[in-house]
Amino acid sequence: MIHLVKGPHAWTAGELLQVVRQRRATSRSKMAALTGLSPSTIAARVESLLSAGYLLEDGEQSGRGRKPRTLSVNADLGVVAAVDIGSRHTRIGFTDLAGTLLGVVEYSAPDRGDAATYLEWLTQRIQSGAAALDHPSHRALRGIGVSIASPVDRTTGKLIHPMHLPGWNSIDPAQTLSSAFGVPVVVDNDATVMALGEHRMHYPRVANMLYIKLGSAIGCGIVIGGELYGGRSGGAGEIGHIPVDAPNYRRRCQCGRDTCLEACFGGAAISEHLAIRGQGSEGDADFAALAAARNPVALEVLRDAGTHIGDAIGTLCNVFNPELVVIGGKLSQVEQLTHALRASLYARALPLNARDLEVVVSKNAADASILGAAWQVIDLVLSTELVNQDLADYAETFDSTSSSTRRIDWSTAPASTASSPSAEIRISGG
Ligand SMILES: [Zn+2]
Repeated sequence: MIHLVKGPHAWTAGELLQVVRQRRATSRSKMAALTGLSPSTIAARVESLLSAGYLLEDGEQSGRGRKPRTLSVNADLGVVAAVDIGSRHTRIGFTDLAGTLLGVVEYSAPDRGDAATYLEWLTQRIQSGAAALDHPSHRALRGIGVSIASPVDRTTGKLIHPMHLPGWNSIDPAQTLSSAFGVPVVVDNDATVMALGEHRMHYPRVANMLYIKLGSAIGCGIVIGGELYGGRSGGAGEIGHIPVDAPNYRRRCQCGRDTCLEACFGGAAISEHLAIRGQGSEGDADFAALAAARNPVALEVLRDAGTHIGDAIGTLCNVFNPELVVIGGKLSQVEQLTHALRASLYARALPLNARDLEVVVSKNAADASILGAAWQVIDLVLSTELVNQDLADYAETFDSTSSSTRRIDWSTAPASTASSPSAEIRISGG
C-alpha cells in the first residue's frame, strides 16, 4: 500500500490512481470531496489516466442528470510474468494487473549448476509463455517478478550465498532478465514473496503478519504496517538458523552448526529422519499419508517437528506481536505437524501476544510464490512515481510522434529493481 500525504497539496495523477487502487474514492465527485481539488483539475488528471490506459470508467449518463460513473484500475493494461525458482521446480505464471492468474506452467528443475545457462533457459521459457498467452494485442509485458530460495541483497539485487543453489553467489538475475526483456524485474526471497502474495490476495487489511514457509527450507516473510519488511538489505526473516534444542534430530546445517531449525526440521530433514527410522525412502516420504495411516514413527517425528517449529514462531510472535500468522509451504498441509505447532506457539507466546493472535494455514499455498512475485511488480508498475513518469513520457511521445509504442524511463525504479533506461515496454504486436 502506498501511504498518501493528506493536506493541501497538488495530488498528482499517480496519487489519484492510488486512491482508486485503495478504493478510497472511485468516482470523480468522491475524488473531489476527498482531495479538495476542483472538478476541472480532477477531470484533467483522470483524463490523463484514462487515455494512458491506467483507468477505466463504467456507467452511462442517464437521460436526466448524471449517473455517477465508476472508476477502476484497468487490469488489462498489461501482463506480468511471475517466476518461482524452487528447490525442485521452476514455475512460470502470468497475471493481469489485478493479480489474476492467467496461466501457470511448471517445469521440473533443469540443471542449476551454471546460473548463466539456467537464466538463458528461463528467458526462453518466459518468451514462449508470453507468446502463447491468448491475450489481446494491447496487453504488453509490464514486468517480471522472481521468487527464489535465496537471500537477496536489496541494495544490489544480488543473491547472497544461496544454500540450495551453490555457485549462484553474487548472481544478479534481475539484471540478466531486464536486459533480455527491457522491463523492470524484481527478485526477492521466496518466503518474503509468499508473504506478499498471501497478504495482497487474502489479508490486505491486516497490518502485522508473519508468513512462515515450511518447505524443504524454512523461512519467514514479515509484514509490518501493511508493508513487507525486509530489514536494511533484505535479510530479515531468515529464521531457518534459529537454534533448537533437539538432541535426537541434530543434522549438520550448511552454515556449519548442527542445531539450526531448518537443518533439524525442514522438509528435507524430516524425510531423512523418517528414512533413518525405516519409514519411506529419503526425499520421497509422503508425510501426510504416513500420518494418516497412523504410522507411530512418523507421528512422533511430525509432532516433534511441529513442537520445535511452533516454539520458534512463538518467540517471533513475542518479538513482532503480529495479529496473524500464516503457515505455508508443503508441511503446512500435514495436520499432525500444524496441530503440534499451534500448541507450542501459543504456549511460548506471552499472554499479551497470544491474545487475539490468529494462526491459519495458507489459502494459496500452491500459488503463493507466483502471486507474490506478480504483486511485487504490480505494486511497482502502478506506483505513484512510475505512473507519473510514464504519463510525462506518454504526453511527450504523443506530442512528438504517432508511434503506437511507448517508452518508459525506468531509471526512477527502486534500487532493488534492475532497470533498463528508456526500455521498450511492448513485446507483442500493438
Ligand atoms: Zn544454519
